[in-house]
Amino acid sequence: MPPDRRGERQAALRVALEGEGLDGLLVTHLPNIRYLTGFSGSAALLLVRPDTTTLITDFRYAAQAPDEAGGAAVVEVDRKSVWERLGRLLGEHPAAVLGIESHALTVRDAERVAGLTRGRLVPTADLVERLRAVKSPEEVDAVRAAAALAQAALAELLPAVRVGQTEQEVGAALEAGLRRRGSEWHPFPTIVASGPRTALPHARTSPRPIGPGEWLLLDFGAQVDGYCADLTRTVVVGARADERQRTVYDLVRAAQLRALQHLRPGMTGREGDALAREVIAARGFGEAFGHSLGHGLGLEVHEAPRLAPTADPPLPLHAVVTVEPGIYLPGWGGVRLEDDVYLGPDGAVLLSDGRTELVELV
Ligand code: ZN
Ligand code: ZN
Repeated sequence: MPPDRRGERQAALRVALEGEGLDGLLVTHLPNIRYLTGFSGSAALLLVRPDTTTLITDFRYAAQAPDEAGGAAVVEVDRKSVWERLGRLLGEHPAAVLGIESHALTVRDAERVAGLTRGRLVPTADLVERLRAVKSPEEVDAVRAAAALAQAALAELLPAVRVGQTEQEVGAALEAGLRRRGSEWHPFPTIVASGPRTALPHARTSPRPIGPGEWLLLDFGAQVDGYCADLTRTVVVGARADERQRTVYDLVRAAQLRALQHLRPGMTGREGDALAREVIAARGFGEAFGHSLGHGLGLEVHEAPRLAPTADPPLPLHAVVTVEPGIYLPGWGGVRLEDDVYLGPDGAVLLSDGRTELVELV
């Protein structure tokens, strides 16, 4: 049995709440609720007070909620309305200054909460997310397991990819492999893009058939114990790579390798991003790398910290992030390579396999 971290997570949150002058936090972002209590359902409110943690959910989770969150929270199941139940709790136990998660509560629901409490509501941002950016060994292991699963599905898929298959057919085969191997769900819509469409960094998988000698870009994820992996590979289908393909590919690969070698906790997200960006810009492709280098991975596929030209905060020790440089040339195509790493005291440790030699499916 892995250690139960929920108590220490809630204790760390209470320290943060005290620092913010709050005597309670209404947690509504579901990944935060899962992190603090283990509850993985799709509807709940979590009220964290200095002395109690209460999970309020509805009838659908009457069995699951105590099963998952019991021991970490008092579970209240309300058949009528979770909001009414929250109002009753706040009536019995008033909070003078109650925090809400401004990034995860709609304006309508914030107004609803304001009507339920006589205390002051304070919008907060990322109080739980900041804790989540620092991973425990079990969380790192879960991302590693998700990456291994994703790689196994890819290894099975690639030998069967043929010229003439559509992006959607390839995507269906990949997703089936991921599910068969036990991925809980696809943490984001799988991207399968071919030919010139690979120049769209977030292409929607389409009915386009793959042509000979074209790029095929696969950006896909897997989820194990709630934790996500996020990988991208770009391969050539039906022919050897031509000179330009090889040049662009090698440049993206060199940029990724430099970042993997030199990324360290304590660097700012901007400095981390620059490790790869400098390599690409030095060869005149700076404008063609239009997104940030990476993002945190965990219970969500995009979480703190960020590796981006606009990211000033330092990268925490024990963070898990993606490293995903790309070059996108409209009309021609694009290359992105994405691996997942853990930031340990000595630098980046690969959680995915980092096997990025150019694959030509001929
Ligand atoms: Zn990705
Ligand atoms: Zn990503």
